[in-house]
Amino acid sequence: MLSPKYFLYLATGAGLQPRIEMSSNPRVDAFYLNQLGYQEMQILRPPQPIWIVEILLRNLQTNANILFPAKFLKLASSLLQEYLPHLKYTMQRHTIHELRFPEFDPPELEKLFWGRLLLGTEVPELLRVNGIELPWDAEDWLQYQYLQSTLERTAAVSIDILGIPFCRRCGESKAIMEDNCMFCGSRHCLTCTNCQTMGLAKSCIPLYFQSFPPSSTASETLKPPKTPIQPQLDFELTPPQKRAAAAIVDFLASEQRQFLVWAACGAGKTEVSYGAIAKTLSENAKVLFAIPRKDVVVELLPRIQHAFPEIEIVALYGGGGERFQDAPLTLATTHQCLRFYQSFDLVILDEADAYPYDGSAMLHYAVNRALRPGGHMIIMTATPGKSLIQKTRSGTLPYVSIPARYHRKPLIVPQISKLKTRSGTNPISSWAPPALIQQFLLGCHQDSRRALIFLPTLKSIAEYGSALIKWAVARDIPGAIIHSKTAAHEDAKSNLLQNKLCFLVTSTILERGITIPNLDVLVLEADNEKVFDSQTLIQIAGRVGRLGETGRVIFVAEHPSYSMKEALKIIRDMNREGFELGYLDSQE
Ligand SMILES: [Zn+2]
Ligand SMILES: [Zn+2]
Repeated sequence: MLSPKYFLYLATGAGLQPRIEMSSNPRVDAFYLNQLGYQEMQILRPPQPIWIVEILLRNLQTNANILFPAKFLKLASSLLQEYLPHLKYTMQRHTIHELRFPEFDPPELEKLFWGRLLLGTEVPELLRVNGIELPWDAEDWLQYQYLQSTLERTAAVSIDILGIPFCRRCGESKAIMEDNCMFCGSRHCLTCTNCQTMGLAKSCIPLYFQSFPPSSTASETLKPPKTPIQPQLDFELTPPQKRAAAAIVDFLASEQRQFLVWAACGAGKTEVSYGAIAKTLSENAKVLFAIPRKDVVVELLPRIQHAFPEIEIVALYGGGGERFQDAPLTLATTHQCLRFYQSFDLVILDEADAYPYDGSAMLHYAVNRALRPGGHMIIMTATPGKSLIQKTRSGTLPYVSIPARYHRKPLIVPQISKLKTRSGTNPISSWAPPALIQQFLLGCHQDSRRALIFLPTLKSIAEYGSALIKWAVARDIPGAIIHSKTAAHEDAKSNLLQNKLCFLVTSTILERGITIPNLDVLVLEADNEKVFDSQTLIQIAGRVGRLGETGRVIFVAEHPSYSMKEALKIIRDMNREGFELGYLDSQE
């Protein structure tokens, strides 16, 4: 249903302001313009890919001189020379009467696009999912809406006024490739490689989008709630959680746009947002709960369904979910946010520090764009990055902490041990664990405790991990290695949980999302700041003592890094705050 080329035209009519427009099918425009009293169209030929016609249109619409057909052709042709120097252009005059569709009756599609941002290639699925039978000319319907200004349309990839290519879907300006395109026939078609896993954004493919109209509420597209919504919880929030939940609800009534919930690892932040979700839904507004990782979306869905049994919820994630359903409450990976445009009144971003959201300009762009103007965003994390911390310190980002876990025991403060994992120039084949590591493992084994030993790289895991396992097995201490390239992660984790293994040697894949009772943690080469930044170290330390039991966290490095010291400081500050607020029985 996609047109590879678009027409540029000038429409005239007695007593009417001449109108310059672009179209995938001028017959649709003729039908529309006929209703407004226009009589003629001067159409520039041959048609060109959308991004070129769009640039022409932008230039011509601001130029008052082109309102005469001859000038229109002259100026349009001279602008086109820049992009297609060898092509000849002609202008054909048509009466609207001869061109127009005699009948044209598109279905009411306007509301389907509210709050969405979709590639032309994604529109058929949107229509199908919403029960609309697809004719061959669905693009004509979209052209009609575009003319009525009820749907915005641009090329998905274009160039800015400096001639720099950029992707309108994901904001990328570097990873844009120029190629010979089979679809539009151009040898200079631009494709964005940054967001290609979500479908190809190209300069010859339109991007359709429409914000949720400012005066509209969710009830215009969705069933309104019957009564004020109350979240169902099977347990009572802890005092610090209650404080945070109240602060979030207060924030919704404020002029502030962003709010940070800064929780100690394992203090439980998800549930504190339920009150704000319920309040927003009760006001007939839409909520997005966005999370970087797909596995967390899948895991969270039943919990949120349980808390809001009466509310329709859609879950969106790669390879599953209901891509084009609409619901008052949407659960989505941050990648899926690329398909929304000013849609939600409340956006909750959970695990804001997690891969792949952290460090991805594209995903930040997408999550922010999903929020309606004037909407509220709540960022939740156990380990905010430097810029968020800076904003809280300067007072530009309001926040609340959840500085204590339910059991009132403080976070385990890591010890720093100055030690080189490998000393001298001995070959790795003759490496034996230093005394500290030996004692650590022997201690875990004796006391029937579990251990995670973190190493920064696959190379270091291969070198030291195997030697460690060999050393331990000789002493009847069973261990295993898991990292991103090993299979059977779940088996290794469950063996550890069932005490079949005493320890795992691992990479940062186990830094979050796992609770193991009676756990001790050792981080070797902890001064490798490329891997072990302060956020990662806090997450790793946060694996220990989650159920209120004691535990040890040891950061081992020859030269303690800034990140190691920063992690200690943040953990201590959190404990101090929890103690001062009366949420902890002791400070350390
Ligand atoms: Zn193309
Ligand atoms: Zn892109």
